[in-house]
Amino acid sequence: MANVVAIVGRPNVGKSTLFNRLTESRAAIVDEISGVTRDRHYGKCEWNGRDFTVIDTGGYVKGSDDIFEAEIRKQVEIAVEEASMLIFVVDVTTGVTDLDKTVANLLRRTKKKIFLVANKVDNGERETWSAEFYSLGLGDLYNVSAVNGSGTGDLLDDVVKALPDDENILPDLLPKLAIVGRPNVGKSSLLNALVGEDRNIVTNIAGTTRDALHTEYNKFGYNFLLVDTAGVRKKTKVHEDLEFYSVMRSLKAIDDCNVMLLVLDAQDGIESQDMNLFRLAEKNHKGLVIIVNKWDLVEKDNHTVAAYEEKIREKISPFKDVPILFVSALTKQRIFKIVETANHVFNNTNKKIKTRDLNDFMLPIVESQPPPALNGHYIKIKYITMIPTKFPAFAFFCNQPQLVKDSYKRFLENKLREQYDFSGVPIELYFRQK
Ligand code: GDP
Ligand code: GDP
Repeated sequence: MANVVAIVGRPNVGKSTLFNRLTESRAAIVDEISGVTRDRHYGKCEWNGRDFTVIDTGGYVKGSDDIFEAEIRKQVEIAVEEASMLIFVVDVTTGVTDLDKTVANLLRRTKKKIFLVANKVDNGERETWSAEFYSLGLGDLYNVSAVNGSGTGDLLDDVVKALPDDENILPDLLPKLAIVGRPNVGKSSLLNALVGEDRNIVTNIAGTTRDALHTEYNKFGYNFLLVDTAGVRKKTKVHEDLEFYSVMRSLKAIDDCNVMLLVLDAQDGIESQDMNLFRLAEKNHKGLVIIVNKWDLVEKDNHTVAAYEEKIREKISPFKDVPILFVSALTKQRIFKIVETANHVFNNTNKKIKTRDLNDFMLPIVESQPPPALNGHYIKIKYITMIPTKFPAFAFFCNQPQLVKDSYKRFLENKLREQYDFSGVPIELYFRQK
């Protein structure tokens, strides 16, 4: 289900401040770990047990003042086309401006759900100022202050209410692959190398999203679906080359897939945009394979692969347990490996371990190396079981779940990964009162 919510509006109304507030809960931690603080214009928002991807369109507006309007127009048009819902931000301290009206005109034409947000309502007095925004003709108005957080709860309540019903948690039967990456890394070339001239199409299956199409293929002995990211294959429209457009497409594809193939250009290595996509897939519990394409262009000796791989693993730490493939769409080197590895990762996403085996393996470990006591409180883990979710998740039942530190969680996760093959799969450890 591609739940991508786009924040639109003219510059300086507070889009990026609102974005930070909506995504703050986990993003802050992730950023600290990965060192990615720049260029983060999309992320995940969690509220009342639901989640969605949010994108700050303002992060992609470039250029000088006089091309602002044309730029914003383009951005909003793409957002309307690609997002499932839109948050339109206006500024209560300036009132309605011409540019607000331009954006409102673009938004009024869509049937998609729009949340009109009057920002910078930092206090009660300012609430009385916002009524003029009803003149934009977009219905309900949310008074918020992105800076102090007031009003954002009501907004989020309504955004998650408008999300489509949760998918059932039955596992997917076939791997659904999405080829994702920055422009020009070779996504379309890889697609062609993988499936050729469509000779092996089995069926077209309507995707979960209105416009997504999953095509089933049989190649190299595997059946799999490709999430059609459109932009990947046909580069007809003018806006195909816009980074914003490619990001919107990627976000939808990540939402729709169960294994994401993150394509890198071997000449560039892993960049901050790639890291953003990686973290998003991780947070969405998607299987991951990293594909270093254009390997034919790299001068190699015996140590090149190992050194290159090490560099990537350092960057993606602590979730290092991800397959990395070195391929060439041009020479078709190791293309079959992509399908084979993606299939392997897909199987890992569905892996179930019997409670008995799990306890036989983990209990001796937690006994010999228990969580460190905190202020004289001893944490005792009694019992471990997998919980029935769409991704591998483990519940550790213990007396003081709130005292278990992240470092100990990572220790347990590493033990699980050493024993059972979860390569390419984000796993979740929950600590619960027994
Ligand atoms: P964007 O260009 O739409 O992304 O706007 P920014 O998020 O960069 O915000 C523009 C300016 O408005 C910054 O100086 C923010 O600190 C300020 N701002 C954003 N939200 C609020 C708010 O809720 N209240 C007040 N008083 N200022 C805000
Ligand atoms: P996309 O924007 O990610 O879909 O990238 P394209 O598939 O359009 O490729 C961008 C450019 O890189 C094109 O000129 C391709 O011919 C080239 N390219 C793609 N894959 C490879 C590869 O494995 N080796 C080399 N040398 N060039 C490649």
